[in-house]
Parts: sequence; C-alpha cells; structure tokens
Amino acid sequence: MARQFFVGGNFKMNGTIQSIKEIVQRLNDAKFDPNTEVVISPPSLYLLITREHLRSGIEVAAQNVFDKPNGAFTGEISVDQLKDSNITWTILGHSERRVILQETDQFIASKTKFALDGGIGVILCVGETLEQREAGKTNEVVLSQLKAVADQVKDWSKIVVAYEPVWAIGTGKVATTEQAQAVHAAIREWLSKELGGETAEKTRIIYGGSVSEKNCKELAKEKDIDGFLVGGASLKPAFVDILNAKQ
Ligand code: PGA
Repeated sequence: MARQFFVGGNFKMNGTIQSIKEIVQRLNDAKFDPNTEVVISPPSLYLLITREHLRSGIEVAAQNVFDKPNGAFTGEISVDQLKDSNITWTILGHSERRVILQETDQFIASKTKFALDGGIGVILCVGETLEQREAGKTNEVVLSQLKAVADQVKDWSKIVVAYEPVWAIGTGKVATTEQAQAVHAAIREWLSKELGGETAEKTRIIYGGSVSEKNCKELAKEKDIDGFLVGGASLKPAFVDILNAKQ
C-alpha cells in the first residue's frame, strides 16, 4: 500500500492574526492533490483562530505539548487542551527546541508517548548538526534520537518522522536528493529492524530543511521521501506548489 504523501507547514514564531488569516484563506481556496495530507502549525496563541477559519480536511498541529495531564506547569499546554480545541497533531523534537531549549531525547520521547496515548498525532523531528555530519555521525545521531522514542512507544501508526538536517534548516542549504534519500532509507531500515516490516512500510518519513517550490518535486521523487515539513516557505503562496509536489 502506498504511503499517503504528507506536508506540514511549521510557522515557528511567525505571523499575526492578520497574516495567519491570509494564509488560511489561501489554503481554503487552493487546489491541491486530495491525496496529500496537509497539517499546518501556527504558534500556540493562534491555534484556535486557525482551526476556526481553516476548512475541514486540513488539520492543525501544535508546535509543542507537555507530558503531564494538567496542573502547575506555567507556560505549557496539555494534550487534553489540544483535543478540546480540535487540534489533532503536534510537532515534537524540532531541532530549535533540542538546541535552543535544550530538550533531551528522553524528554521528547516522554512527550511523544504522552501525546500518542492521548490520541494526538506526532510529527517527530530528528536530524544531525553540520559538525555531526562532517564527523560521519549522521545515522548514529538520527537513529539514537529515534531509539529514545522506540524505547517508550511501540505503536508508530500516528507518528510521522521528519528528517531535518539542522544545517539545512532556514539556511537555504537544502540536502541533496541523494543525501536525504540515504538517511530516509537508513531510518526505514532501522524501523524494520526495531519495530518490524509493517511499521517500516507504513511510517511516513518526511524531509525538512529549506524545502521550496523549486526543489520539492525532485525530492518527492525519491522512494523513501513521503512528504515535507516546510518552515519559511509555508508562510508564502509557494506552499501550495509544495503541496502539489507529487503531481
Ligand atoms: P525551513 O524550516 O523550511 O525554513 O528550513 C524547516 C523546519 O524547521 O521545519
């Protein structure tokens, strides 16, 4: 069975009520491949207005969620609050949180488990820094980030893995199709060994890092690239072209 193409838009800490309404309107009006699953991720403050204005068939993701049910956790958002707001996905493990907020593999794994147990899908980001790539450690780093999650989560049916080389994020330096495909294939092979052939076959592995309307079609041709997590370009009209990368 073919894996459904998946494109996420990660707005990061960008946007205003006005600009997000414009993006939503553009998506509501856009013609794109109905076989592509589309999820957009605005800052938490704008999750509700995004959901309210966005047409059905496009889902909304938080950029983070906490691993406790509720209570005295200033600044955090719970899985139940997302569900209450009809937010069905969350991004977790983004390199900006791993690096700037110093989130550990274990913390990300714990949040992933908590989200999945609560019925929220997870776009799980993994990726190596330039230094790690140059030291020949790409697969080791990426697979150990995944292993931390596999130690806690056996059912990966609601996980989409996003391979995002840190050196390619927001830099305009996209990984070559060969570089991306090689890591995606390594991830799929690892999934097969660790969690079985069926999980490996079914799990979407998407690429992120300077994806644009110019490079998406070539990347989408690769056998193990099942979609994209788009940062900068998700704020622009070009995002619609990326949704149609498979056409
Ligand atoms: P970028 O970001 O497309 O702006 O490189 C991707 C991401 O961080 O998810």
